[in-house]
Amino acid sequence: MSQTHSMTADTVVRDLGKTYQTERGPVAAIAGVTLDIADGEFVAIIGASGCGKSTFLRILAGFEPATCGTLTLGGRPVTKPGPDRGVVFQDYGLFPWLTVRENIAYGPRQTGSSRASAHATADRFVEAVGLTRFADKYPKELSGGMQQRVAIARVMANSPLVMLMDEPFGALDALTRTNMQHELARLHKETGTTVVFVTHSIEEAVFLADRVVVMAGGASHGVPGHIKAVVPISLANRDVTSAEFNRHKRELAALVHEGSNPAGVR
Ligand code: ADP
Ligand code: MG
Repeated sequence: MSQTHSMTADTVVRDLGKTYQTERGPVAAIAGVTLDIADGEFVAIIGASGCGKSTFLRILAGFEPATCGTLTLGGRPVTKPGPDRGVVFQDYGLFPWLTVRENIAYGPRQTGSSRASAHATADRFVEAVGLTRFADKYPKELSGGMQQRVAIARVMANSPLVMLMDEPFGALDALTRTNMQHELARLHKETGTTVVFVTHSIEEAVFLADRVVVMAGGASHGVPGHIKAVVPISLANRDVTSAEFNRHKRELAALVHEGSNPAGVR
């Protein structure tokens, strides 16, 4: 599962800001966001609702422009969506008229792979997400968790340099979610794809990420969303019961929750 792109996936974000123009006036969603994401890194983004996590991810994806600041991937400015970035949302739709295998083969076909080669690629990723027995099923025949696995396999099959995931496991039951976390960790290790992963779960962030970005602020706080802290995760292993794992969780919980009261309320 090697990368087919020649350039590296270093992402450089400098002083990025986004202000939405709404009927009720401008909303400064994020401001002053500066971050370097190294090729192959797994970065999780956590923070209270409304602090601009999705806005930041959509800008990284090229779905919407920043109002100010700069964003480059592999040295090139990001201005629109591209095949170098794969995006997985909580309810990222599959093509209902295509089977699991065809859904996953769709991207490789679009970029010129033969049908046989695209299906071979698809079968590798079908297997990687544990759905070999379901390759010929249609999305509506699968559970939500299985559909989400197909969505991830579909993105991985395009060998993106960067995978952008916005609370992708938020709708899954606890057991499926744990399984998906292990699958994603394994895929990340195997492919070396850079991952930027937004989650509500501090535990999920610690389990998956090399670094956790804590965002804070947002409209209800009177300051635009911004990066409050970047915490490297140094774990000998990903044992969720270990003391160091729990130390990371406590540290991040304190960062997420401190100052999260509305101004003036203590
Ligand atoms: P998060 O994902 O962290 O919950 P969002 O990025 O969705 O935060 O939202 C950040 C802020 O920007 C919120 O105040 C939200 O209301 C506002 N916002 C997000 N998208 C839009 C939009 N398309 N138009 C206007 N305001 C928006
Ligand atoms: Mg969001």
